[in-house]
Amino acid sequence: MSQLANLWVETTPIAPPRTDPLAGAMRTDVLIVGAGYLGLSAALHLAEAGTDAVVLDTGPVGGGAAGRNGGQIIPGLKHDPDELEALFGKSLGERIWRFAGDTAKFVFDLAKRHALEAGVRHSAWVQGIHSTKAAERARRRAEQWQRRGADVAYVGADEAARITGTDIYVGAFVDRRAGALQPMSYVRGLAHAALRAGARLHEHSPVLALERKGHLWEASTAHGARVTSDAVILATNAYSSALLPALPRSIVAANSLQIATEPLSAPDRRAILSGGEVLSDTRKVIRYWRLDDSGRLLMGGRGPYREPGPEKDWGHLRREVEKLYPALRGIRFTHRWGGRVAIHPDSMPKLHLPEPGLIVPIGCQGRGIGWQTAMGSEVARLVREPSYDAVLPITPIRKIPFAPLKRIGVSATIAMMRLADRLTEPAR
Ligand SMILES: Cc1cc2nc3c(=O)[nH]c(=O)nc-3n(C[C@H](O)[C@H](O)[C@H](O)COP(=O)(O)OP(=O)(O)OC[C@H]3O[C@@H](n4cnc5c(N)ncnc54)[C@H](O)[C@@H]3O)c2cc1C
Repeated sequence: MSQLANLWVETTPIAPPRTDPLAGAMRTDVLIVGAGYLGLSAALHLAEAGTDAVVLDTGPVGGGAAGRNGGQIIPGLKHDPDELEALFGKSLGERIWRFAGDTAKFVFDLAKRHALEAGVRHSAWVQGIHSTKAAERARRRAEQWQRRGADVAYVGADEAARITGTDIYVGAFVDRRAGALQPMSYVRGLAHAALRAGARLHEHSPVLALERKGHLWEASTAHGARVTSDAVILATNAYSSALLPALPRSIVAANSLQIATEPLSAPDRRAILSGGEVLSDTRKVIRYWRLDDSGRLLMGGRGPYREPGPEKDWGHLRREVEKLYPALRGIRFTHRWGGRVAIHPDSMPKLHLPEPGLIVPIGCQGRGIGWQTAMGSEVARLVREPSYDAVLPITPIRKIPFAPLKRIGVSATIAMMRLADRLTEPAR
């Protein structure tokens, strides 16, 4: 297995944009920190509307989670529509579930409009149901979305086994609004589209400090260069740092890891997610998998709280593949990689406006392909029309209590969640 090789970097046909690090002083309407889905979607939508935008990133485009994820385009949020209406009230709750329900479509439409060659396919998200309790919840989820006209269904164990090629699930929630893409192709495609629309982009230009000067913002980078802007969009998600000290303390930046096999044989490809579906399950310690365009099986799941390093950090994913699909025992694993996901304790993405002109959308909850792309357009509108009522309420940044103990807390929580998964799975 190659050392930490990200499959998506190797297989993307899309050339990187190759921009120069920022040099000297620059003036723009909007500075965007972070060249992932959110930052680039915001830049694209701003540029299309005639607003000047500059994007800076510490590394290359897609160096954050956007170039490393599972490529599963999943609409919705962790909370189901009835829950959202209970949490936010009927009117805002409805606005949120409508927005969330349309995020996959938003990606399909955007990719089509800009002819992004990102391996985008509209198929389905299959949520494998691991316990009878989770089945009750998934039935309710299906019923709530169906009532609202969405193309979703709850299927029983036999149909779940037929789709997934494994009989471990008691049923499945099937969401036909969903799909798949090649994450690195998509993020590079967004960068090219934003540049074509007139946005400016500088990679390898980490923003080290942000300072409010009168009614303007000044950002300084490692090379002593500066950008002055009317507004700043902080699009750093799970890679947020001390630039805004409270921000990294308001999320859990969890490591999620993936491994890929060599391309499967034709019979194995016909047995596993042969309709191009993507899958994640209801276990507390989630597993997710799919095939890529060349028929490799990509298995993803939790990682250690520290930065992953030794090959054994991926060992559990290899074991999952062999447990789920005994026919694949002995298959060669060719790639392993990982990245960080921003999670809030209440599983809701957030929109902060800590100071005038500083806009901070954060917390993809693992569904950032759709959500962060759509939020990019939403925050672009908010910058242009400050009185615009965005889909999320603007909330203060709340530190997670005992943040310094997060590392111990997260490891202990994962151990407890793994035990809970084992106890709730039907015996076999
Ligand atoms: C392994 C893994 C699997 C996942 N699977 C899926 C999936 O299947 N489906 C799905 O929808 N979501 C998935 N996600 C989540 C998804 O990848 C993220 O939600 C999404 O990439 C977030 O996009 P973003 O633009 O907000 O942030 P990112 O793509 O993380 O971009 C943030 C950028 O900010 C930059 N940055 C940070 N600090 C600075 C600074 N000071 N100066 C300049 N730049 C800075 C970083 O370098 C980075 O490029 C997965 C994530 C991981 C890690």
